[in-house]
Amino acid sequence: MNPAFPKEILNWINNEPCPAESGEWFDKYNPANGKVLGRAARSNCLDVKKALEAALMACQSWGEKTAVARGDVMRTIALDMSNRKDDIARIVALETGKSKADALGETEAAIEMGLFVAGEGRRNYGRSTTATTAHRTVLTKRMPLGIAALIIASNTPIANVAWKAFPSMFCGNASIMKPSEDTPATAAIFCEICRDAGLPPGVFNLIQGLGREAGSPLVESPDVALVSFTGSSETGRIIQKAAGERLAKVCMELGGKNALIVCDDADPVNAEKWVLSSAFSNAGQRCAAASRVIVFDKIYETFRERLLRSTRGLKIGVGNHDFLGPVINLKHLKNMLTSVDQAVANGASILVGGHRMDGPDYADGYYMAPTILGNVDADAEISQKELFGPITILYRVSDFDEAVSLANNSKLGLTSSIHTGSIHRAMEYAERVEAGVVVINGGTHGSEPHMGFGGVKNSGTGWREAGLEAMDVYSDWKYINIIHDPGKV
Ligand code: NAD
Repeated sequence: MNPAFPKEILNWINNEPCPAESGEWFDKYNPANGKVLGRAARSNCLDVKKALEAALMACQSWGEKTAVARGDVMRTIALDMSNRKDDIARIVALETGKSKADALGETEAAIEMGLFVAGEGRRNYGRSTTATTAHRTVLTKRMPLGIAALIIASNTPIANVAWKAFPSMFCGNASIMKPSEDTPATAAIFCEICRDAGLPPGVFNLIQGLGREAGSPLVESPDVALVSFTGSSETGRIIQKAAGERLAKVCMELGGKNALIVCDDADPVNAEKWVLSSAFSNAGQRCAAASRVIVFDKIYETFRERLLRSTRGLKIGVGNHDFLGPVINLKHLKNMLTSVDQAVANGASILVGGHRMDGPDYADGYYMAPTILGNVDADAEISQKELFGPITILYRVSDFDEAVSLANNSKLGLTSSIHTGSIHRAMEYAERVEAGVVVINGGTHGSEPHMGFGGVKNSGTGWREAGLEAMDVYSDWKYINIIHDPGKV
């Protein structure tokens, strides 16, 4: 057991830690060495019922507080997170296998999200307007939804908590979070901080556990007004169906198969830097990872050689100077290895990597070597399926039009990037690519608290997280009609 990690990771209901009603647990493993870090409460519908009761009790009085008051609590939580950022980062690093420096960067982004949302307490603007009838004004006002279910992935655990928890609480909802079973302790320390910051009991609750056992009862509950989900498109489809059955509001932030284009007029050094970062940082476990790299024919050979050379030189491990660490669990690693084997059986070439890392530094850890594949058809399964790991595919195209159509040849449409020296090409690409986020001469990843983030096609259902756009996810607009002088109408 690691002294920096809780031995038992509990649910949080009414600001109190509690084990699962069944008394069952599941083990949480360290991705860096395969050892058990601790055990977490294995919840089911009984725990969800208990959390719903707490949320129902808290809902009304929290929703009736002013936006300023709720914003003040969000600020206190964010500042308390800042005071405890080393504790949070230590847990994030242990749970995910990312370096302490990366975990700290992620924690700071999560704190910024809290501060951004807290500032909305002093804005939270609606609109006022006239109407076709005289002596009548219409006001719009944001209203809480009630109870929000927040279901999240593990890849950036504290950012994923913050991206949903802050706007949901700020908008006046009582929330129940179901974190990933791979990162239970990050969500638990957030609950502890919320309690210590003075958040009233029942406003933010946590249910640990597995998707079908602990997530499904939340999605299916008629008491839940909003299901806000971040995860794979496969799970998203199951959740959308279940929540759609009872016409609940559903926000989906799903996967990506993001294309990064390197044109013949790109700065090769900058393009190489961003391909490495987009494809391999966070061990490729980003919805916004560049899992497809499309290179113009004219520069293909030279760009490929420099990229392979630099990929071979990437440092792998959990230290602050390592470029990437392990993936989140053994099953995920095995799935990736199987996908690579199948791609090779179908004619793909492994240009670099393609295997589990071996050697004493990696013993029993879930390390996938950074991998680049070539000779892959645009319609091949591996070109279409999100792998969510340090694996990317190199494609060769003859011109801009072919690059755009290859980038758009995907059911997913989360992010994209183009490297070019031409403003004309850059802007035309930004217009034509089917993605929710486009970056010119940078990486495919990178979101900030004040910027809306989300995808088109099967990467989402039209909502945007973060930014002011997040407030639309977590609140409803009410239109208030005022007839000022009924006698004159
Ligand atoms: P996942 O879909 O397997 O799981 C996500 C969450 O859903 C987990 O908490 C899981 O326990 C829960 N879950 C699973 N089945 C469920 C069910 N039937 N009912 C309710 N909950 C259920 O995804 P993952 O492997 O944990 O995360 C990786 C995925 O997340 C990738 O596809 C990645 O692109 C995506 N992601 C998207 C964004 C974004 O903003 N678009 C951000 C991060 C990750």
